[in-house]
Amino acid sequence: MSYAKYLYTSYYCCDVPKSDHVDHINGDKMDDRIENLQVISGTYNRLKDHKHKEMIIRICPVCGKEFIFDPKNLSTHPNPCCSRKCGGIKSHW
Ligand SMILES: [Zn+2]
Repeated sequence: MSYAKYLYTSYYCCDVPKSDHVDHINGDKMDDRIENLQVISGTYNRLKDHKHKEMIIRICPVCGKEFIFDPKNLSTHPNPCCSRKCGGIKSHW
């Protein structure tokens, strides 16, 4: 178990599945503040590492799917969807 995972599970009193990672949101592995930690699946972790970006996990309000999102875009897209398709559906709500 990684130190980040240990911190996360003891702070939130929850289990993180083996396949999931506790990720440092800002990419700084020394920054173990609880607000810098998020749980992401192994797939997303690889995506994130590949992009070397600060990414957060959001749940799509339309289809409920998890997706990664650049928090820098939150100012222009405060309630993002997983895809253009879901965005189109939401614009008709
Ligand atoms: Zn969606």
